[in-house]
Amino acid sequence: MRKLVDKTLVVASHNAGKIREIRDLIGPLGFEAKSAADLNFVEPDETGTTFEENARIKALASARASGLPALSDDSGLAVDALDGAPGVYTANWAEREDGSRDFAMAMEKVEKALREKGATTPESRAARFVSVLCLAWPDGHVELFRGEVEGHVVWPPRGTSGFGYDPVFQPKGYKTTFGEMSAEEKHGWKPGDAKALSHRARAFKLFAETCLGA
Ligand code: IMP
Repeated sequence: MRKLVDKTLVVASHNAGKIREIRDLIGPLGFEAKSAADLNFVEPDETGTTFEENARIKALASARASGLPALSDDSGLAVDALDGAPGVYTANWAEREDGSRDFAMAMEKVEKALREKGATTPESRAARFVSVLCLAWPDGHVELFRGEVEGHVVWPPRGTSGFGYDPVFQPKGYKTTFGEMSAEEKHGWKPGDAKALSHRARAFKLFAETCLGA
């Protein structure tokens, strides 16, 4: 495992919600994080069929373009009754014909698909959020970290915090959705804590322990 010694890195993302969450998580560790969006990097095509492949594509593109270590996140919602869909295509389910993203529409698609399966009870609507973080260096070395959080899909959506599908995801053991939680509650982790809640914070905890010794 390679350690990260630089205190500047690129967050290899154009997704404002993810960039904000990664900045929240990395800030307390003393990092300066520029994003691929701030640096006007072209968004690479996510041609992989796994979260790991897509995370690697994004991190390597930013590391090579910047000459700095780059941290990407490839994530999504996997619904058991839908055989893991939308999965790696979670962002695509929100895409409109004009290329813009509409998450209200995407959440409705998930709900419609669940209704078609007759999935009405919390147990039959089990789902997990997955986040794979990839730290890549300009020389091509990569480290990968996976975090998952189990829960179920609720309807109607609840809460306006967070981003993406947060209003329809209620993690196991909680009465609120991610959309009803503050950022601190959703992460459920700060450096040194033994546990994290969100998929991204769980992957981030592994990254911090492995590459930063935090
Ligand atoms: P990608 O990793 O850029 O392909 O996109 C992942 C998509 O999954 C995002 O656009 C969000 O819609 C969704 N997603 C990932 N993580 C979260 C989260 O923490 N909350 C809500 N939606 C998420």
